[in-house]
Amino acid sequence: QKIRADFPVLDQTINGKQLVYFDNAATTQKPSAVINALVHYYQTDNANIHRGIHTLAERATRDFEATREAVRAFLGAASTEEIIFTSGTTQGINLVASTFGRKFIGEGDEIIISGLEHHSNIVPWQMLCEEKGSILKVIPVTDEGELDMEVYASLLSPNVKLVAVNHVSNALGTINPIKQIIDQAHAVGAKVLIDGAQSSSHITIDVQALDVDFYAFSGHKIYGPTGVGVLYGKKELLNAMPPYMGGGEMIKEVSFEKTTYNELPYKFEAGTPNIADVIALKAAIDYINVIGKENIAAHEDALLAYATERLLKIEGLRIIGTAKEKVSVVSFVIDGIHPQDIGVLLDNQGIAVRTGHHCTQPLMKRFNIVGTTRASFAVYNTIEEVDRLITGLERVIKMLK
Ligand code: PMP
Repeated sequence: QKIRADFPVLDQTINGKQLVYFDNAATTQKPSAVINALVHYYQTDNANIHRGIHTLAERATRDFEATREAVRAFLGAASTEEIIFTSGTTQGINLVASTFGRKFIGEGDEIIISGLEHHSNIVPWQMLCEEKGSILKVIPVTDEGELDMEVYASLLSPNVKLVAVNHVSNALGTINPIKQIIDQAHAVGAKVLIDGAQSSSHITIDVQALDVDFYAFSGHKIYGPTGVGVLYGKKELLNAMPPYMGGGEMIKEVSFEKTTYNELPYKFEAGTPNIADVIALKAAIDYINVIGKENIAAHEDALLAYATERLLKIEGLRIIGTAKEKVSVVSFVIDGIHPQDIGVLLDNQGIAVRTGHHCTQPLMKRFNIVGTTRASFAVYNTIEEVDRLITGLERVIKMLK
């Protein structure tokens, strides 16, 4: 209850019922600390960063760079030079495709992704393959919703230049064995990008221990604001890559004859960044650190276990994604009822879930379904809310069957 009080949005009724928010894999709610950081910045410190010498510019720059250091520690990175601010996971992946991809992946080279990917970790690689004549290969998904690691091993060869997979599946909650994926890729000389959109709020990340080459995440999925994300990249790779966008801040010197580029990380941060949201991201990271990721994960795991047990007792309900290692995401279908109808009728009862393909259309096709209903839990959710979901579903079934 103390944690719930930190999230003002939870204190409201929807359609006459206390809100139950179970769409956390899409975006998490924000604690007052994050909301206050945004207000404080605009009320007291608003200025453009890095070039100003007046007090407001100094304050804004100091707080912006303090987030970079907080993110460095959050990811276990060696240096803040390796922390690039983006607008989110999608931009981080596109940055790598457009710079590393354009320079180091050519005709006939191979890129491996997986059948569990979000569209944002599929389409940028398809675009690159189309442009370069490279080849996209896909690790298949088992009936449990796990990656088929035997096939993965057989896909690896010196032709593979990049492996890009998510740490956690947003649609099913599967936690992928990324350390093994990374080590096996490195053994054939391939680099690895991990889409951390769904892992960064649940699992402690140590990019150095993982030896991962690129790791991307979004602020809004870790209790921070929308519009800000992070791309971690190994320094030697970032140095070898061309810039992403051209403009102010990313340059050292500009002349019409020749322009030289700024040092890391600024080489990849053209233009005025999303200063307020970057600053507020630190408040989100601090919030997670104070509670502790292990404590958050333990609470969410308990909710997942309870919800799974209760859902399985509902007749005609089938859980999609039964991997041994999962985060707090439960996706299911109910015989004869369209997920969208479930979503609408749960919303009528104040319960917010996600329905549809979850931006993973190939995965839905793999399971031969149009979509699922997905409940995803966060630190502020409770067992009583899971009970509300179960009662809500029983009511939906009674109405529609
Ligand atoms: N990858 C995964 C696994 C995701 O869940 C999401 C968001 N649903 C993304 C990438 C894209 O994140 P964003 O929209 O914040 O860029």
